Order: sequence, then structure tokens, then C-alpha cells
Amino acid sequence: MFDKILIANRGEIALRIQRACRELGIKTVAVHSEADKEAKYVKLADESVCIGPAASSQSYLNIPAVISAAEVTDAEAIHPGYGFLSENADFAERVEQSGFVFIGPRAETIRLMGDKVSAKDTMKKAGVPCVPGSEGALPDDPAEIIHITKQIGYPVIIKAAGGGGGRGMRVVHTEAALISSVNMTKAEAQAAFGNPVVYMEKFLEQPRHIEIQILSDQHGNSIYLGERDCSMQRRHQKVLEEAPAPGISRRLRDRIGQRCADACKRINYRGAGTFEFLYENNEFYFIEMNTRVQVEHPVTEMITGVDIVQEQIRVACGEKLRLRQKDVQFRGHAIECRINAEDPYTFVPSPGRITTFHMPGGPGIRVDTHAYQNYMVPPHYDSMIGKLIAYGDTRDQAIARMNIALSEMVVEGIKTNVALHRDLMNDAAFQLGETSIHYLENKLGIQTK
Ligand code: ADP
Repeated sequence: MFDKILIANRGEIALRIQRACRELGIKTVAVHSEADKEAKYVKLADESVCIGPAASSQSYLNIPAVISAAEVTDAEAIHPGYGFLSENADFAERVEQSGFVFIGPRAETIRLMGDKVSAKDTMKKAGVPCVPGSEGALPDDPAEIIHITKQIGYPVIIKAAGGGGGRGMRVVHTEAALISSVNMTKAEAQAAFGNPVVYMEKFLEQPRHIEIQILSDQHGNSIYLGERDCSMQRRHQKVLEEAPAPGISRRLRDRIGQRCADACKRINYRGAGTFEFLYENNEFYFIEMNTRVQVEHPVTEMITGVDIVQEQIRVACGEKLRLRQKDVQFRGHAIECRINAEDPYTFVPSPGRITTFHMPGGPGIRVDTHAYQNYMVPPHYDSMIGKLIAYGDTRDQAIARMNIALSEMVVEGIKTNVALHRDLMNDAAFQLGETSIHYLENKLGIQTK
């Protein structure tokens, strides 16, 4: 096992990775920006290195600074967490070229999955069902584009091959709007991602977002840890997640899960990963793969008992997966609420000093947060200050426990979205389950009118 790991991230995930390392007896190095130097998880780490000013472009995204920090502290491996450099193939390559282990897939895998056209093509060949659409990138010839669209059928969605974070997408309902929409998306994609390539998919009207968690080792073993439902979204950003997905039969889960595990074997995948699907009329349609740990991994941990971050570390170290598929048991139900420093209904970020901080507890409650009383939420980063996870034998019990936990939670000095989550826990449609990716925006639209 590694002796020392550098954690190239901040916030709750930096603390989460630190906890996994400590349990495995691994020393930790926290790298941080000037804005995060007082954070408790930085002080809890065995060593810490300031890698630059508050702006993430000069600190958490500064590849030479992160690698120098690993060199001066003699770390053996680097865990990238999520966001920042976690899906940057050049970073993974530089890490390994500098003699460290990158805790994640090989750079070539990250590159392959980072381009949505090549990712879709690879998955199609591996037998994973995809959203019907163009064969790869759209051609330049307008007549050809019109022909392709007719075959797919309106409405369609134009998507940037290099897109991410819910950006670089445009829905088209009529032929009149088609060519100008393609050209606009291309121009935006070039400006935002430095890559003008776009492709086309059938636009699904009422899908759910359901994703499969997988784990692969370097010895040809891959398993799936079931699915998560992340349909409660605003602007393509997840607000709460749960596992298992309501209404998905065991047979369906096993079928799609096995396809994903088989695809991982085929592409020689290494580490933890997520296959994201849209789900409509009992069919799964692959949209993209995330080659890193995800914010919502705890709900899967709660229902399987598998520590996904520890498994990432073990696999990176060369160990074989300790579980075979038949050893993976799904038990109970878990829900995660992302707690953000923001106005619950306008979503305007609310950084600042937390004056009161009281976290809930009790049976089935897990809180993953780096925040504490007197913590200063910096304005420079994502507004998520933690995650509240509730587990129950049944979905109803998980909702009931979440409701109690949310009512116990006190965060003062800044605004949080706790009120929105309380509202959702008591929402009749959410309680029934199986809401689509548009549900929350429709509900908010009604509320804010
Ligand atoms: P990103 O990498 O930017 O997150 P994704 O391809 O994962 O992009 O898509 C993000 C979200 O956009 C999905 O969760 C879904 O809400 C919507 N979306 C993407 N493709 C389609 C589609 N073919 N039909 C309907 N909605 C879609």
C-alpha cells in the first residue's frame, strides 16, 4: 500500500479522501490555495503545501504547482477528487511521467471518454445502448445535416463533443431553426472548449437521469455497484441523488450494470467510474462517462457497504478487487442532499462566515462536510459546503430520516438551500418517485411566478 498520498482538491471531497487514507494507514498531503489555508482539513492532514492564490486557475488547476508539491513532500500517488484536474488527461499523463501514481484511469482512457463523440462510439461498439443520433460528428454540408436530422426525427439536441457542466447544448424543434442552431453551437463550442466539433442526438422529452457506478482493477476484473437516480436537477446540475433508482427492477439493473462492467473490461478501465444514462420508457440511453469519483458516491456506499474511495486507492496501488459481482449486496435506500451556500430559490451564491453550525445525527444519518462554526465560505469556488445523506431500510424511511435531519440542521451567517430540500422531501411527486429531469425546474417555475 502507498505510504503517502497527495490530495489535489479542496472542500468536502478533500476531507473524504483524507479519511479514507487515514483508515488505510496512509499519510496525507493537503495542497491548498491561500483562501483555504485555515480550513480544518488542511490542518488535519499530515502535511500541507500552499500552491497558489485563491483563483483556482493559479492553484487547484496549476499542474506544475501540484506536481512540485508531490515532489517536495515525497508523496507516491495523487488523488484528484472530482472537478478541477480530475478529468484532465494531460494532468494524469504529467503525474505518471513525473513518477507518481494517478489515482484514476489511464490518461488515454480519460482522453477517449472526455470527447463525447469518441466516448459514444466506443460504448456503442462495446454494446452499451446510446441515444439515437448522428454517426459521430456532424458534417459541414447543410443538406447532409438536414437529411440526418430527418432520419432521427425532431426534436433533436445539438451537443458539443468537448462539452461539460451542462454547457454547449441546444435543442432544435424545426428544420427552419436547424442550420443556424448547429452553427451557433459550433461557434460556442469553439469559444468555450476550444473544439468546434458537434454531434446530434434525439431529444428525449421526459427522461430520468440514472447512472451506474463501476469499479475496475488492473487485472481484468470489473464490477457494478448498482445505479443512482440523479433526476432532480436545475440547469443540468444535480440537487439531490438517491440509490437505488425508484421503480427499476433488479433484472433491469443487472442487465445494464453487466453491460457497463463488460464495457470496462473491453476498454481496460482502471478505477472507479460512472456511466451516465438517460432513461425513458424502460430503456437506458448512454450519454457520457465520468472517469472519477462523483459527488453522489455516498448513496452507493450506504446501500452496498463498499468504500468507493478506498477501493480507488487499492486499485491504483495494483490490488485486485476484493469483491466479485456476486458478493455485491444491495440493501436499503439512501438519499443525498447537496447543501449549498446559496439562496434556496434564487440560487444566488451566499459565501461568508458561518456563525452557527449544528449538524444532525441519529440512525442512518451521514454528514460529509468540511465546514464548521466560524468557517469562512470562500467566494472563489463551488458553493457546496457539504452533503447530508440519509439511509433507511425503505425509501420512505430514508425520506423520513432526511426530513428530521434537515429540521435539526442549523447553519447561520450564510444562506443555504436547506429550505429547498425540506420542500422536496414533502413534495408529493418526489415522494412517489420516478420524476423526470425537468421536474424541479417546472416546480420552481411555478413557485417563483
Ligand atoms: P454534461 O457533460 O455537460 O453534463 P451530458 O451529456 O451529461 O452533458 O448532459 C447533461 C444533461 O443534459 C442531461 O442530464 C440531460 O438533462 C440533458 N440532455 C443531454 N442529452 C439529452 C438528450 N438527448 N435528450 C434530452 N436531454 C438531454
